[in-house]
Amino acid sequence: MADYPERIQAIKERMGQRLHILAHHYQSDQVVRHADSVGDSLELARRIPSLEAEHIVMCGVFFMAETASVLARQGQGVYLPAREAGCTLADLAPARIVETTLQELNRDGGRIVPLAYVNTSSAVKAICGRYGGSVCTSANAETMLRWALEQGDGVLFLPDKNLALNIADRIGIPENRRDFLLHPGGEQTGVVYIWPGICDVHTAFRTEAIREIRESDSKARVIVHPECAPEVVRAADASGSTSQIIAYVEASPPGSRIYVGTESNLVQRLKRRFAEEKSVLPLKSCDCPFMAQVTEERLAGLLEAISGGGAPRVEVASREASWAREAVNRMLQVCS
Ligand code: SF4
Repeated sequence: MADYPERIQAIKERMGQRLHILAHHYQSDQVVRHADSVGDSLELARRIPSLEAEHIVMCGVFFMAETASVLARQGQGVYLPAREAGCTLADLAPARIVETTLQELNRDGGRIVPLAYVNTSSAVKAICGRYGGSVCTSANAETMLRWALEQGDGVLFLPDKNLALNIADRIGIPENRRDFLLHPGGEQTGVVYIWPGICDVHTAFRTEAIREIRESDSKARVIVHPECAPEVVRAADASGSTSQIIAYVEASPPGSRIYVGTESNLVQRLKRRFAEEKSVLPLKSCDCPFMAQVTEERLAGLLEAISGGGAPRVEVASREASWAREAVNRMLQVCS
């Protein structure tokens, strides 16, 4: 049976308020059209505590479902249509190595505070909670890095190297106050210790593409995500999180041509939404293979399993969840 939209709709009608479907902006249109809430990581995390639904379905990647599980109330079930949907960034920061690195950085009695991008496992978020740190999203990384710098002698920022460098540039942390953790156990020099993770999708954007646009279309504007390399961010007219990119396109005057450097599903949706007023173009077509693992077919299958009482929940062990919640709540309080 391939009538997925009808099957999804039938279950949504049957379950009513007992079910809430969240979707990240990088999801396909076929999935987004069934969502009750659509947002970036920060918007989706903010949405969870106010949800009354018994069943929360996260159309995104695994760390997003874990975060939802950490923030959900007791008795609420959190589900992910594709449980194997990981994320390069989250996978590049295994909790055991993060904790060992933190202990090493603090070996002489200093206080290096961890600040994890939300694209991390709940185990890493729990480490941030236990060590007095917090988490951040690309929308609030600047605020959270300033906050973290005030909490101790320095910050371990993980796992996205490019986001760390771009935010350090933005708030004026000099090059000699950044440390790339290249010599663990050696002399520490940095005020921001930068984990060497990257996002495969956003590192695909290059300055050459921006240069070619400048040469052929001097009036075009370029906005990119801060997970792009610093030289790409510097070459663009603006950089911002997913929600900030949307706001930039919305605020651009009629007739504008805007090249956007982020995941293709969002760019194509913006292109269609503003087709009558302005041109939204991809800087390069880049799909996130992890987000793409959530499909309408798998959403339909999951909803049927939930409705039948047999769907596996995304669960985080209570002690880990409690520390991870501490870290996430610190972010929500600092950015309230
Ligand atoms: S776009 Fe990059 S950071 Fe986002 S889920 Fe995909 S791999 Fe992870």
